[in-house]
Amino acid sequence: MSFPQKAEYIIIGAGIHGLSTALHLAQKLKSQGKGDGSKILIIEKGSIASGASGIACGVIRNNYFQPAMRELMAHSVEVWESDPENFHYHNCGYMQISPASMEEDVASIYEQQKDIGYESTFIQGEKEVDSYMKSMFSDWQAKGVTSVLHEKKGGYANNTSSIYGLATKAEAEGVRILTGTTVTGFEYGSNSKAVTGVETDKGLVKCDQVIIGAGPWIKSFWDMLDLPNEVSIKSNGTVHSNVPMWQYWYLTEGVLGVEPDFLKTDNGEMPPVIHVDTDAPLYSDVDKSLITDEVWGLYYKPDFHFNGVQGGSSPYKVGEPGGDGISVDPYGPESKEFIIDDKFAHMWSSALAFCHKRFEGKSHLFKKGATGGLGCFTPDSFPVFDQFRENVYVIADSNHGYKMLGVGKLVAEEVLGEKSALLEPFRLSRYEEGKLHPVSNSPFPWS
Ligand SMILES: Cc1cc2nc3c(=O)[nH]c(=O)nc-3n(C[C@H](O)[C@H](O)[C@H](O)COP(=O)(O)OP(=O)(O)OC[C@H]3O[C@@H](n4cnc5c(N)ncnc54)[C@H](O)[C@@H]3O)c2cc1C
Repeated sequence: MSFPQKAEYIIIGAGIHGLSTALHLAQKLKSQGKGDGSKILIIEKGSIASGASGIACGVIRNNYFQPAMRELMAHSVEVWESDPENFHYHNCGYMQISPASMEEDVASIYEQQKDIGYESTFIQGEKEVDSYMKSMFSDWQAKGVTSVLHEKKGGYANNTSSIYGLATKAEAEGVRILTGTTVTGFEYGSNSKAVTGVETDKGLVKCDQVIIGAGPWIKSFWDMLDLPNEVSIKSNGTVHSNVPMWQYWYLTEGVLGVEPDFLKTDNGEMPPVIHVDTDAPLYSDVDKSLITDEVWGLYYKPDFHFNGVQGGSSPYKVGEPGGDGISVDPYGPESKEFIIDDKFAHMWSSALAFCHKRFEGKSHLFKKGATGGLGCFTPDSFPVFDQFRENVYVIADSNHGYKMLGVGKLVAEEVLGEKSALLEPFRLSRYEEGKLHPVSNSPFPWS
């Protein structure tokens, strides 16, 4: 492709959000008789799926304590279901297995899932949970869990394959994807705050509207737009000032090198994605030493793409929250300093053995590899979807986003003038106005 001088819509980033927005915007323009995807240019510094979307575990679930997140996820699951083949989507379901301290929260999620018609089963009681799980896996042995929320929809998708599927669909609508080109700044009109062009390392591209889907690189665009790096948050009548806008967490993930079939259910089916939180102590499967006696969690699934059983555990915070504590490129060579040591492998494989007898003595099969990575989180760890500087739409998903395939569809509608009730609870102004999302008892920052 020769270097373009102008594009009506420039989308930055060829991850799940950039590509989904491009696809849906192209379809919408066509259906409204306003043109097609040739009005849209995606600018990507690396290649398609080279960011967080290409490394995501790929879990798609509804299980959120926050009503606005649940409604948004239900919408996204419908988009996944609209083309499972090209999106490489596996509808195997999802299970949230929890300790007593989380039971009330999860019970309310179940009730509200019923209200929005999202199919799930809720099991309560230690014995009942044990027999429900044993009816699926006779070697189930997890302790300290008193409820199971079994979502029948959702599951997971193969990370890079789904992003390539999305790119192929967008290109078929006429969208152009310019890879290997880094955005370095914006050009502003003389009398207006609006962006009139996007500066790149290869030259300027004039435009009418910009959409940013830059995943963990969002802070650099926030700075290019001169947006505030601190916010005030009103909570329970108190105003907390100077709260850092961005913070980084490292998501610890890995693969156990067994055949993916190793985790089939007793009746030979692929199981749901399993997430367990528990307050039972975790002991090493290698030397029986105590790993933790605080609430901990893990998630896992059989995965033919990663070729093994893949999953993770609670992330940890890196750098100085929100400051310049992290100056490295989230996926550049320097980010290797965050790649976790054997501690995670030991914890996670012991945790698998805590849940299923079949994993006992298998810790040595842990494969160190290209899973795990940085996420950039907002002050409350929920997304910000908002328009700034008149014509710049920012998709800052706070690392919830692989499952959010539908967000691009809603953003495309907003860019074309249709306000979305589903996106409304995620504006930046919610901090100042105190319109915050409820906080759950989960040990994970994204639940
Ligand atoms: C280890 C891990 C596991 C995860 N697992 C899950 C999961 O199971 N389920 C889930 O829902 N979410 C998961 N997430 C979160 C999810 O991956 C992200 O929220 C989502 O992929 C973000 O999508 P995006 O399109 O915004 O960003 P990305 O996929 O990161 O895409 C942004 C793109 O912007 C490009 N870019 C950046 N800067 C520039 C620039 N200056 N110029 C041009 N291009 C630029 C990057 O190269 C990149 O390709 C996980 C995240 C991690 C790290």
